[in-house]
Amino acid sequence: MAYHYNIPIVYSFVGPGAWSGRAFRVVPGETGCYYCHLEHIGDDEELQSVEPNENQEIYDDGCATPAFIGSGIDTGIIANFTTRLSIQTLLSEEKDSYEQTENDHIFWISQGKGGNMKLVQKKIDKHPDCDHCNRS
Ligand SMILES: [Zn+2]
Repeated sequence: MAYHYNIPIVYSFVGPGAWSGRAFRVVPGETGCYYCHLEHIGDDEELQSVEPNENQEIYDDGCATPAFIGSGIDTGIIANFTTRLSIQTLLSEEKDSYEQTENDHIFWISQGKGGNMKLVQKKIDKHPDCDHCNRS
């Protein structure tokens, strides 16, 4: 619907244990679509999720269902990245707002890298294998 009405949309989620998470935006006609982001995640080594060796599931996996234990500190950081990217996108025409970025995808790793956190930001163009963007 957002694509149809030409409205930007921001997605975010964290992986098991909140060891990594991401926020990304789709601006119709300007960026890759949701599926382009997924294709790029699959292709790009820097965008690979980091997961604990053992997941402590508290519910069956399911959409919009808390499925594992994760630190609220880490999920909060992803929530803040998501909020920042949303404001930055929605107020892109305001001169006193955040400066604009060409990067549409924020990926943050909280654990699994020897105690080091990592932030990756990428511009996501249309992916050549995206069925949605390559319809004629
Ligand atoms: Zn696409």
